[in-house]
Amino acid sequence: MPILDELIAALRLATIEVVDLTAPLQAETPVIQLPPPFGNTIPFSLQEISRYDDRGPAWYWNNITTGEHTGTHFDAPVHWVTGRDGEDIAQVPVDRLIAPAVVLDFSSEAAADPDFLLEVEHIRQWESEHGSLPDGGWLLYRTGWDVRSDSQQAFLNASETGPHTPGVSVECARWLATQSPLLGFGVETVGTDAGTAHSFDPPFPCHAALLGAGKYGLTQLQNLARLPATGAVLIAGPLPITGGSGSPCRAIALVEHT
Ligand code: MN
Repeated sequence: MPILDELIAALRLATIEVVDLTAPLQAETPVIQLPPPFGNTIPFSLQEISRYDDRGPAWYWNNITTGEHTGTHFDAPVHWVTGRDGEDIAQVPVDRLIAPAVVLDFSSEAAADPDFLLEVEHIRQWESEHGSLPDGGWLLYRTGWDVRSDSQQAFLNASETGPHTPGVSVECARWLATQSPLLGFGVETVGTDAGTAHSFDPPFPCHAALLGAGKYGLTQLQNLARLPATGAVLIAGPLPITGGSGSPCRAIALVEHT
Protein backbone atom coordinates (compact mmCIF):
# COMPACT_ATOMS: atom_id res chain seq x y z
CA MET A 1 0.00 0.00 0.00
CA PRO A 2 1.33 3.51 -0.74
CA ILE A 3 2.71 5.13 2.39
CA LEU A 4 0.14 7.95 2.42
CA ASP A 5 -2.71 5.42 2.16
CA GLU A 6 -1.16 3.54 5.08
CA LEU A 7 -0.94 6.80 7.01
CA ILE A 8 -4.63 7.61 6.46
CA ALA A 9 -5.64 4.07 7.41
CA ALA A 10 -3.58 4.28 10.60
CA LEU A 11 -5.11 7.66 11.49
CA ARG A 12 -8.61 6.24 11.03
CA LEU A 13 -7.77 3.23 13.18
CA ALA A 14 -6.07 5.56 15.68
CA THR A 15 -2.96 3.39 15.63
CA ILE A 16 -1.46 6.76 14.78
CA GLU A 17 -2.81 9.34 17.23
CA VAL A 18 -2.85 13.07 16.53
CA VAL A 19 -1.88 15.11 19.61
CA ASP A 20 -2.51 18.85 19.67
CA LEU A 21 0.49 20.68 21.14
CA THR A 22 -1.09 24.12 20.68
CA ALA A 23 -2.32 26.52 23.38
CA PRO A 24 -5.72 28.18 22.76
CA LEU A 25 -5.27 31.61 21.17
CA GLN A 26 -7.38 34.11 23.12
CA ALA A 27 -7.17 37.39 25.03
CA GLU A 28 -5.96 35.53 28.14
CA THR A 29 -3.09 33.76 26.32
CA PRO A 30 0.06 34.67 28.28
CA VAL A 31 2.54 36.97 26.51
CA ILE A 32 6.09 37.84 27.46
CA GLN A 33 6.59 41.07 29.44
CA LEU A 34 9.87 42.90 28.90
CA PRO A 35 10.93 45.61 31.37
CA PRO A 36 11.29 49.26 30.29
CA PRO A 37 12.64 50.64 28.01
CA PHE A 38 11.89 47.68 25.71
CA GLY A 39 8.82 47.44 23.52
CA ASN A 40 6.22 44.79 24.25
CA THR A 41 3.79 42.68 22.27
CA ILE A 42 0.05 43.22 22.70
CA PRO A 43 -2.42 40.57 23.85
CA PHE A 44 -4.36 38.62 21.24
CA SER A 45 -7.81 40.03 20.44
CA LEU A 46 -10.74 39.67 18.06
CA GLN A 47 -12.58 42.59 16.46
CA GLU A 48 -15.95 41.52 15.16
CA ILE A 49 -16.73 42.54 11.58
CA SER A 50 -20.22 41.05 11.45
CA ARG A 51 -22.22 38.32 13.18
CA TYR A 52 -25.37 37.49 11.18
CA ASP A 53 -26.47 41.11 11.52
CA ASP A 54 -26.80 44.34 9.51
CA ARG A 55 -23.07 44.29 8.87
CA GLY A 56 -23.32 40.85 7.28
CA PRO A 57 -26.63 39.01 7.65
CA ALA A 58 -25.47 35.49 6.81
CA TRP A 59 -21.88 35.51 8.01
CA TYR A 60 -19.71 35.84 11.08
CA TRP A 61 -16.09 36.96 10.87
CA ASN A 62 -13.45 38.86 12.82
CA ASN A 63 -10.28 40.77 12.34
CA ILE A 64 -7.55 39.58 14.66
CA THR A 65 -4.87 41.51 16.49
CA THR A 66 -1.85 39.54 17.58
CA GLY A 67 1.89 39.66 17.95
CA GLU A 68 4.01 37.27 15.94
CA HIS A 69 5.28 35.81 19.23
CA THR A 70 1.92 35.15 20.91
CA GLY A 71 0.80 31.80 22.26
CA THR A 72 2.22 28.67 20.68
CA HIS A 73 4.55 30.20 18.11
CA PHE A 74 7.51 29.63 15.82
CA ASP A 75 10.71 31.72 16.06
CA ALA A 76 12.45 32.26 12.69
CA PRO A 77 16.22 32.90 12.57
CA VAL A 78 15.72 36.58 11.70
CA HIS A 79 13.99 37.08 15.10
CA TRP A 80 17.41 37.52 16.71
CA VAL A 81 20.22 39.90 15.78
CA THR A 82 22.57 36.92 15.43
CA GLY A 83 20.26 35.56 12.70
CA ARG A 84 19.48 38.88 11.03
CA ASP A 85 20.72 37.63 7.64
CA GLY A 86 18.85 34.34 8.02
CA GLU A 87 15.38 33.17 7.06
CA ASP A 88 12.27 35.13 7.92
CA ILE A 89 9.21 33.09 8.82
CA ALA A 90 7.92 32.96 5.22
CA GLN A 91 11.29 31.68 4.03
CA VAL A 92 11.38 28.61 6.29
CA PRO A 93 11.33 25.72 3.81
CA VAL A 94 7.99 23.94 3.98
CA ASP A 95 9.60 20.49 4.13
CA ARG A 96 11.16 21.48 7.46
CA LEU A 97 7.72 21.87 8.99
CA ILE A 98 7.36 18.08 9.29
CA ALA A 99 10.15 16.53 11.34
CA PRO A 100 10.91 13.91 14.00
CA ALA A 101 10.72 14.98 17.62
CA VAL A 102 12.08 13.66 20.89
CA VAL A 103 10.90 14.66 24.35
CA LEU A 104 13.26 15.20 27.29
CA ASP A 105 11.27 15.32 30.52
CA PHE A 106 12.62 17.58 33.25
CA SER A 107 9.25 18.38 34.81
CA SER A 108 10.21 17.13 38.27
CA GLU A 109 13.46 19.13 38.22
CA ALA A 110 11.56 22.26 37.13
CA ALA A 111 8.92 21.69 39.83
CA ALA A 112 11.69 21.62 42.44
CA ASP A 113 13.56 24.58 40.92
CA PRO A 114 11.78 27.00 38.54
CA ASP A 115 15.21 28.30 37.47
CA PHE A 116 16.33 24.80 36.40
CA LEU A 117 18.71 24.84 33.41
CA LEU A 118 19.22 22.08 30.87
CA GLU A 119 22.90 21.13 30.53
CA VAL A 120 24.80 19.16 27.87
CA GLU A 121 25.31 16.45 30.47
CA HIS A 122 21.53 15.98 30.82
CA ILE A 123 21.26 15.46 27.07
CA ARG A 124 24.20 13.02 27.04
CA GLN A 125 22.54 11.04 29.82
CA TRP A 126 19.26 10.97 27.88
CA GLU A 127 21.11 9.86 24.71
CA SER A 128 22.72 6.98 26.60
CA GLU A 129 19.20 5.65 27.28
CA HIS A 130 17.33 6.62 24.12
CA GLY A 131 19.89 7.06 21.36
CA SER A 132 21.11 10.12 19.48
CA LEU A 133 19.07 13.27 19.02
CA PRO A 134 17.24 13.17 15.67
CA ASP A 135 19.07 14.54 12.64
CA GLY A 136 16.98 17.43 11.31
CA GLY A 137 14.48 17.04 14.15
CA TRP A 138 13.20 18.76 17.27
CA LEU A 139 14.24 18.48 20.89
CA LEU A 140 11.08 19.18 22.90
CA TYR A 141 11.95 20.20 26.45
CA ARG A 142 9.22 19.15 28.87
CA THR A 143 9.12 21.13 32.11
CA GLY A 144 5.48 20.77 33.18
CA TRP A 145 5.02 24.49 32.54
CA ASP A 146 2.01 23.92 30.29
CA VAL A 147 -0.28 23.45 33.32
CA ARG A 148 0.31 27.12 34.17
CA SER A 149 -0.64 28.46 30.74
CA ASP A 150 -4.14 29.63 31.68
CA SER A 151 -2.63 32.24 34.02
CA GLN A 152 -0.27 34.97 32.89
CA GLN A 153 0.98 35.34 36.47
CA ALA A 154 1.71 31.65 37.03
CA PHE A 155 3.13 31.24 33.53
CA LEU A 156 5.65 34.11 33.78
CA ASN A 157 6.26 33.38 37.50
CA ALA A 158 7.81 36.80 38.10
CA SER A 159 9.05 38.09 41.44
CA GLU A 160 10.78 41.38 42.23
CA THR A 161 13.91 39.81 40.67
CA GLY A 162 12.14 39.12 37.37
CA PRO A 163 10.66 35.98 35.80
CA HIS A 164 11.63 32.51 37.04
CA THR A 165 11.02 29.83 34.43
CA PRO A 166 13.19 26.87 33.35
CA GLY A 167 15.57 27.13 30.41
CA VAL A 168 18.96 26.22 29.03
CA SER A 169 22.51 27.03 30.16
CA VAL A 170 24.81 29.13 27.98
CA GLU A 171 27.04 26.14 27.23
CA CYS A 172 24.09 23.89 26.40
CA ALA A 173 22.53 26.50 24.12
CA ARG A 174 25.79 26.71 22.17
CA TRP A 175 25.98 22.92 22.00
CA LEU A 176 22.41 22.64 20.71
CA ALA A 177 23.18 25.26 18.08
CA THR A 178 26.56 24.07 16.83
CA GLN A 179 27.11 20.44 17.90
CA SER A 180 23.67 18.84 17.81
CA PRO A 181 22.02 17.63 14.57
CA LEU A 182 18.74 19.33 15.55
CA LEU A 183 16.49 21.47 13.37
CA GLY A 184 15.02 23.27 16.36
CA PHE A 185 14.24 23.43 20.06
CA GLY A 186 10.74 23.49 21.51
CA VAL A 187 9.59 24.47 24.99
CA GLU A 188 6.45 24.79 27.15
CA THR A 189 7.45 28.22 28.50
CA VAL A 190 6.87 31.72 27.06
CA GLY A 191 10.23 31.67 25.24
CA THR A 192 13.06 29.25 24.54
CA ASP A 193 15.30 30.95 27.11
CA ALA A 194 15.12 30.76 30.90
CA GLY A 195 13.24 33.48 32.77
CA THR A 196 16.56 34.67 34.22
CA ALA A 197 18.41 34.58 30.86
CA HIS A 198 18.40 38.39 30.62
CA SER A 199 21.31 38.29 33.07
CA PHE A 200 23.27 35.45 31.41
CA ASP A 201 26.51 36.09 29.51
CA PRO A 202 25.57 36.41 26.72
CA PRO A 203 21.93 37.26 27.48
CA PHE A 204 19.24 34.98 26.00
CA PRO A 205 21.79 32.37 24.84
CA CYS A 206 19.22 30.03 23.33
CA HIS A 207 17.86 32.73 21.03
CA ALA A 208 21.35 34.01 20.23
CA ALA A 209 22.95 30.64 19.49
CA LEU A 210 20.13 28.67 17.86
CA LEU A 211 18.66 31.41 15.70
CA GLY A 212 22.19 32.55 14.83
CA ALA A 213 22.88 29.02 13.59
CA GLY A 214 19.78 29.11 11.37
CA LYS A 215 17.81 26.83 13.69
CA TYR A 216 14.24 27.34 14.94
CA GLY A 217 12.35 27.81 18.17
CA LEU A 218 8.87 26.64 19.18
CA THR A 219 7.29 27.94 22.38
CA GLN A 220 4.26 27.52 24.64
CA LEU A 221 3.78 23.91 23.61
CA GLN A 222 1.26 21.79 25.50
CA ASN A 223 0.62 18.08 26.00
CA LEU A 224 4.25 17.01 25.67
CA ALA A 225 3.40 14.49 28.42
CA ARG A 226 1.34 12.62 25.82
CA LEU A 227 4.34 12.09 23.54
CA PRO A 228 6.85 9.24 23.74
CA ALA A 229 10.51 10.00 24.42
CA THR A 230 11.29 9.10 20.81
CA GLY A 231 9.32 8.32 17.66
CA ALA A 232 6.85 11.22 17.36
CA VAL A 233 6.57 13.35 14.23
CA LEU A 234 5.96 17.06 14.75
CA ILE A 235 4.03 19.12 12.22
CA ALA A 236 4.36 22.89 12.74
CA GLY A 237 2.22 25.37 10.83
CA PRO A 238 3.42 28.96 11.16
CA LEU A 239 1.80 31.53 8.85
CA PRO A 240 4.02 32.67 5.96
CA ILE A 241 4.11 36.31 7.08
CA THR A 242 6.32 37.98 4.48
CA GLY A 243 9.34 39.41 6.26
CA GLY A 244 7.99 38.24 9.62
CA SER A 245 10.16 37.22 12.57
CA GLY A 246 7.85 34.45 13.72
CA SER A 247 4.22 33.43 13.77
CA PRO A 248 1.54 31.93 15.94
CA CYS A 249 1.65 28.28 15.00
CA ARG A 250 -0.54 25.21 15.10
CA ALA A 251 1.71 22.46 16.34
CA ILE A 252 0.53 18.84 16.21
CA ALA A 253 2.29 15.56 16.74
CA LEU A 254 1.73 12.13 15.24
CA VAL A 255 2.26 9.31 17.75
CA GLU A 256 2.25 5.67 16.72
CA HIS A 257 0.68 3.10 19.05
CA THR A 258 1.84 -0.43 18.41
MN1 MN B 1 9.35 34.02 20.13
